Amino acid sequence: MELTNKIIAVTGGARGLGFAMAQRLGKAGARLALLDLDADNLDSAVGKLSSSGIDARPFVVNVTDEASVTQAFADIRDQMGAVSGLVNNAGITKDALLIKAKDGEVQKRMTLDAWKSVIDVNLTGAFICGREAATQMIEADQEGVIINISSISCAGNMGQSNYSAAKAALNALTVTWAKELARYGIRTGSVAPGFINTEMTAAMRPEILENIASGVPLKRLGEADNIAQSVEFILTNDYFSGRVIECDGGLRL
Ligand code: NAP
Repeated sequence: MELTNKIIAVTGGARGLGFAMAQRLGKAGARLALLDLDADNLDSAVGKLSSSGIDARPFVVNVTDEASVTQAFADIRDQMGAVSGLVNNAGITKDALLIKAKDGEVQKRMTLDAWKSVIDVNLTGAFICGREAATQMIEADQEGVIINISSISCAGNMGQSNYSAAKAALNALTVTWAKELARYGIRTGSVAPGFINTEMTAAMRPEILENIASGVPLKRLGEADNIAQSVEFILTNDYFSGRVIECDGGLRL
C-alpha cells in the first residue's frame, strides 16, 4: 500500500510505540487518527505531530468499550474519511504469578481482575477495533491493512499469564483475519517487539534493565522507531499477510 494521504488509525497512539508509529507513518505521507484514553495526552501528541507538518487528529476512545469504539470510527470517517490501516497498539500489563507459594502455603494468586483487564484491553480491544476498521474498509470498497502489536511474551513469560495469553491470541487473530479478509483486499500482520526503550521500560530499575540488555544478542534495548519501521513494512509490502515480525534484537524468552 502506498501511504500518501492514506488514513491510518493507531490505538494507544498518544505516547510510546504508538506515537513513534504516528511519527514515522506521518513522515511517509499518511494521515493519522490517534485513538487513546486521555484527551490531554492526545492533544499534546497531535500538537507535536502537527508542528512537524503531519496531519493527525485526536479521538478519545476506550478500546474495551464497543460503543466508544463504534463512535470513534464513525467520527474518523466523518472528519477524515474511511481508514486504510489500523494498528491495534493499545496495551497494558498487570503482572503477577498465577500462584505464589512457600512451604506448601499459597500466599498470592493472580486476581481475576488482573486477568480480565489485560485480556480486555490487549485482545478484546483489538477484536472490536479490527472489526470496526474492516467494516469501514469493506464499505468504502478500498484495500486495507490491520496490524496487531503482539510481544515477545507471546511465547509465554513468567508472571504474565494474562499478557502472554492475550499476545499469543492476537497472533492467532492475525492469521484468522488474513484468511477471512483477503477476499476483501485486506491484509494483516503482527509485530512482536522485544524490550524497547519506552516510558514503561524507563520506569524499571537500572540494574534490571542492564540485566535484560545483557541477555539480548544485540546487547541493547530496541528503539521505538525500530517497531514503527516494522509496522511501515507490513503496511507497504503488498505480499505480506497473516505473519508475525519478531523485532527483538534476537532475544527468545
Ligand atoms: P504505553 O507507553 O503504556 O502506551 C500505551 C498507550 O495505550 C497509552 O497511551 C495508554 O493510555 C493507551 N491505552 C491503554 N489502555 C487503553 C484503552 N483501554 N483504550 C485506549 N487506549 C488505551 O505502551 P507501549 O510501551 O508504547 O506499548 C505499546 C504496545 O506495544 C502495547 O500493546 C504493548 O503491549 C506492546 N509492547 C511493548 C513493549 C515495550 O518494550 N514497550 C514490548 C513488547 C510489546 P494511558 O497512558 O492513558 O493509560
